[in-house]
Amino acid sequence: MVAPVVGLRPGTFCEEAMHARVGLRGTGSEVRQRIADLSGQNLHKCMQCGTCSAVCPMAPQMELTPRAAVAALQHGLAEQVTRSTTPWLCATCQICQARCPRGIELPRAMEALRLLRLRRGEDFMNPRAVAAQTLAAAPQIALVAAFRKLTS
Ligand code: SF4
Ligand code: SF4
Repeated sequence: MVAPVVGLRPGTFCEEAMHARVGLRGTGSEVRQRIADLSGQNLHKCMQCGTCSAVCPMAPQMELTPRAAVAALQHGLAEQVTRSTTPWLCATCQICQARCPRGIELPRAMEALRLLRLRRGEDFMNPRAVAAQTLAAAPQIALVAAFRKLTS
């Protein structure tokens, strides 16, 4: 089990209503098409080599490795991926993109997954839940970046 991240509250989304509105459910090809429309990436090209997971600096903290996330998305399981910490902990460092033998720009897919939630007002981070000690100690630029990335 992954240790909780301060200020983050995964798994607090309203399931049926949210999925009906955002359209996260569907066949594998339908979900891939939604991700493709937002990210410009065809995840069906992934051959599951695992290179992205091997080089990802955040993979040990993620509930699904990048490779596992892509595998889930190939099967239309966007719900599991967006409910995991994976797209939210992606640091957009682009190392996986540079090493992917299929030329998949995975950071763009991660961003698309976040957008599916954020465009419906489903925040992953609650700024009010961040401990005062963290607010005082963390660099301001880090806090601003987190609020911009994880809240709608
Ligand atoms: S590196 Fe590319 S091809 Fe390999 S598992 Fe990751 S996304 Fe798929
Ligand atoms: S862009 Fe995201 S998924 Fe890719 S290596 Fe960096 S943190 Fe991992």
